[in-house]
Amino acid sequence: MKKHIVLLPGDGIGPEVVAQGLKILRAVEKKFALSFSVEEALIGGAAIDASGDPLPPGTVEVCKKADAVLLGAVGGPKWDKGKQRPEAGLLGIRKALNLFANLRPATVFPELAELSALRADRVEKGVDILVVRELTGDVYFGRPAGEETRDGLRYAFNNMIYNEYEIRRIARVAFSAARARGKRVCSVDKSNVLNVSRLWRAVVEETHKDYPDVALSHMYVDNCAMQIIINPTQFDVIVTGNLFGDILSDEAAAVTGSLGMLPSASLSGAAEDGGPGLYEPVHGSAPDIAGQDKANPLAAILSVAMMLRMTFGLGEAAQTVEEAVRAVLREGRRSADLIGPGWKGEITGCAQFGDLVAAKI
Ligand code: NAD
Repeated sequence: MKKHIVLLPGDGIGPEVVAQGLKILRAVEKKFALSFSVEEALIGGAAIDASGDPLPPGTVEVCKKADAVLLGAVGGPKWDKGKQRPEAGLLGIRKALNLFANLRPATVFPELAELSALRADRVEKGVDILVVRELTGDVYFGRPAGEETRDGLRYAFNNMIYNEYEIRRIARVAFSAARARGKRVCSVDKSNVLNVSRLWRAVVEETHKDYPDVALSHMYVDNCAMQIIINPTQFDVIVTGNLFGDILSDEAAAVTGSLGMLPSASLSGAAEDGGPGLYEPVHGSAPDIAGQDKANPLAAILSVAMMLRMTFGLGEAAQTVEEAVRAVLREGRRSADLIGPGWKGEITGCAQFGDLVAAKI
């Protein structure tokens, strides 16, 4: 059966980078004799302009029927003062598709090692971390939460809470993702202090019994924050809750050096559960460079590779895309955001970058 993909280009550089992602899908189709049906829908500012709604009901409907969604980015100064916010479209589609798992790889490509925030000797052996963050629970959503005054003192409180169902389903996503990579999961918690972390650790261990081919280790979050800096090469998949994941995924991203290289996936289940996935670059709509063919399309292209691997189980096709990206980088092609100190070549535009990667496939 044809695999159905919905494109949500969005705003700013979103349409530019999604167009390159589509080029890559077409190249993969040809090379591996596959067939994708592709449909476009509106989200964000573009949807506000067309219909007054950042997430029109028609968009939700087509996304729910799709096997996977590729999103560009939303937002921009044009809509900053409006009643309707483009970002509401993004939050809305995540909720509508029940996307509770956020997966962010942080990869230091050896070709771009000089962009890393870390010393060369810490990243030269290669860094390839996948942070799996629970997205719909934890202290951000726990109730009760609020503010009150007791005995003349102002208090504010949030509730760090997880139930075993929520922990089990995110652990399954992490183990399942690890199976398609280095087969190692490091679960990050604070179980020396927090009750919620002790339940987290126990449920992760129970879930691990279904994935005996994957190695499991545990780390306290404070140590993990240090280890990502001291020895990032040691990690394969990190799984953690919403709060710790929010911080650690940004820290791991800083290790790689460029926002234009970071893909992501948001999933509603482990690969074996067949949940629909939403794939998007981590960066925003970059209004400062929109419409100038200056955007780096590699985050969007690498998001397509994640889609091929995680939703469609096409590991070989995903690897081919990733290798094509590296081959183009090895040839010295760089978008403006990838220029390191002392680099003196010409700058490759967004559309040409897409053409070059597609040609390598
Ligand atoms: P941003 O990620 O859009 O841009 C930050 C900086 O990085 C800018 O200088 C930009 O030019 C550069 N940059 C980002 N992506 C790039 C790429 N692919 N190639 C080259 N350079 C790139 O973040 P921002 O400036 O804080 O936000 C701009 C708009 O994007 C805002 O409206 C914000 O709300 C929105 N936003 C959307 C998302 C999303 O859709 N997921 C995420 C973050 C921000």
